[in-house]
Amino acid sequence: MKFENRSGISFNLEHKNWLGQEKFIIAGPCSAESEEQVWETVKEFKKTSISAIRAGIWKPRTRPNSFEGFGEIALPWLVDASKKVGIPCMVEVATPSHVENALKAGVDMIWIGARTTVNPFAVQQIADSLRGINVPVFVKNPVNPDLALWMGALERIDHAGITQLAAIHRGFSSGKRLIYRNEPRWEIPIELKRLAPNIPMINDPSHICGRRDILLNIAQKALDLEFDGLMIETHINPSVAMSDAEQQITPDSLFELINQIKIRLTPQSVSCNEDLEKVRKKIDDLDHQLIHLLADRVKLSQEIGSIKAQNHLTIMQFDRWRSLVMDRLKTGNELGLDRDFLLQILQNIHQLSIQVQMEIFEANKDHVE
Ligand code: PEP
Ligand code: MN
Repeated sequence: MKFENRSGISFNLEHKNWLGQEKFIIAGPCSAESEEQVWETVKEFKKTSISAIRAGIWKPRTRPNSFEGFGEIALPWLVDASKKVGIPCMVEVATPSHVENALKAGVDMIWIGARTTVNPFAVQQIADSLRGINVPVFVKNPVNPDLALWMGALERIDHAGITQLAAIHRGFSSGKRLIYRNEPRWEIPIELKRLAPNIPMINDPSHICGRRDILLNIAQKALDLEFDGLMIETHINPSVAMSDAEQQITPDSLFELINQIKIRLTPQSVSCNEDLEKVRKKIDDLDHQLIHLLADRVKLSQEIGSIKAQNHLTIMQFDRWRSLVMDRLKTGNELGLDRDFLLQILQNIHQLSIQVQMEIFEANKDHVE
């Protein structure tokens, strides 16, 4: 069975949510730094239910003079620790030789990092190297907020025959001065989940926050948005970490964080179901009214377009647009609506109105000229 969205993106729907019902927690250091560091971190994971252990072996760093991982020699540090505690392990791969070396060493799962997802050539090479191998693959979002690029990478891996595929949301470079290292842009993973419902979605608060003090807030938001799990960088001694020191937490802090997360219920499991349904019914009605109103408004734009075309008027009249915006924002303000939200809606509606009027002008070309 294939899933198609409007841009023709297709996914195999065989995936199912292979991670299971429990939240899937991936923990482990940003980088494997020594046999001792990996073991001292990983041995703590026996105390609680960690689903998978992560560690960077080959680190894609922004600048060449940063620590780039120990490479192949670090693989047994991770694989041996993982076997000792009986928890599967995963590493980041960026090339077919990473895939080959990781799997040869006994790594159980792999992920594609944000800096690799942006490059379709690199992703395709990884996909080709995975053909005929059944290993779970996690695909992080690309560095830039481009949903199609993220979906494209997932599709390439999917088309290579991988049946256990998942996405990791690690936020996006924004160029803005934010409290986050990478802006969450929640609407992007939400849209991916809408288009590809069977691909589990993991949240990586560590790379979104870039600092440990706000991890809980992002982790809680992700689970409130029905994400399927978390990837949290965990280091036995974060202050001396060779990469991402500010965002890593100790295993004990990780357990504390997990305990602080409030687990929400699904509507099926609670008694407020009827109340919820009543309010939802009202929302459904309002949405339909909004759509009817929008359609009526488009008709009015067409009428206006005809009048302007016949009278040789410009489509855009800035004074009218300026006063319309001021007027609607004033009403919105009185009703307590967020200004930016309302402005964005007005801009979208206006853009459609201009487009509709342009079409009328085009149709009336012979009369107008
Ligand atoms: C990482 O997981 O350590 C990493 C490099 O992440 P990202 O690809 O999200 O930057
Ligand atoms: Mn990291």
